[in-house]
Amino acid sequence: MRIPAPLRDRGIDRAVAFSIPMTTRFRRIDVREGVLLHGPAGWAEFSPFRDYDAGESAAWLRAALEDATTARPAARRTTIPVNATIPVVDPQRAQRIVRESGARTAKVKVADPGSSLEADVERVAAVRDALGPGGRVRIDANAAWTLEEALRAVPVLDRAAGGLEYVEQPVAALEDLAELRSRLDVPVAADELVRRAEDPLRVARARAADVLVLKVQPLGGVQRCLDLAAEAGLPVVVSSAVETSIGLSAGLALAAALPELPYACGLGTGSLLTTDVVATDDRLVPTAGELPVTRPPLAPETVESPTDPEVGQYWQHRLTDCAARLA
Ligand SMILES: [Mg+2]
Repeated sequence: MRIPAPLRDRGIDRAVAFSIPMTTRFRRIDVREGVLLHGPAGWAEFSPFRDYDAGESAAWLRAALEDATTARPAARRTTIPVNATIPVVDPQRAQRIVRESGARTAKVKVADPGSSLEADVERVAAVRDALGPGGRVRIDANAAWTLEEALRAVPVLDRAAGGLEYVEQPVAALEDLAELRSRLDVPVAADELVRRAEDPLRVARARAADVLVLKVQPLGGVQRCLDLAAEAGLPVVVSSAVETSIGLSAGLALAAALPELPYACGLGTGSLLTTDVVATDDRLVPTAGELPVTRPPLAPETVESPTDPEVGQYWQHRLTDCAARLA
């Protein structure tokens, strides 16, 4: 690919587009794609979703640029615990996913428009059963509930789980999240309200959450996330944007650098991709609920194999548009 001048000036010397079919449809996409950028510090991933405009995607490019051109922060740990993710599936399948993952923490998707509270209760109870009393169960509503629905559903799901670790983004609005937090005993985590907000720290200042979910690319890089975590003064859960192992390893670098890491991270998403841009043995797919803090090298095939012309052209435009927005 052609390297736009603002990136070349900052030390980027190679750019390769990638496109990988997913094992499971996620966020209404079947293919994960983006650009890998190479600079003095190594390869980095730039992979905003297609529905993100150039303004929003510029943060993703700043993250990739930082990771390709500057050293990562010092690691305080060598492995990162990750959670199993339980989609909206029946209780038997939910238990199978938990057991096969070997993870001690499971995040259960709830409040899906196609599901009911009764089905959510059954799934959550099944997950607790599979994890045993020592495991941790968290739920993620992806902002789908109204305040009233959340006030009714969370205590019911808390009982079904035998105690929830936290509820992630139960409602969309900051005011509702703050009110919910003041009225419930279950800790509240903010995800969408941090990642797509003009001001990611508003939620912390409003005391609307107990936990922040941080994602490296949408928030503009590992260092920015470390600064946000320090300023917020709240525990952080690092999650992926369903990246390849190159992008996941930046998330691991953030998780490894945080002063405290009291929760399992949402970085165990590598198996959602059918293949990867690193060698098979280097893939960042969790074993027994853990990932190593590594930076795997790009597989030579990734650089050598020709990109689908449509994909290549699309990402050439994307890269040029976002690079023009770098201040
Ligand atoms: Mg979430």
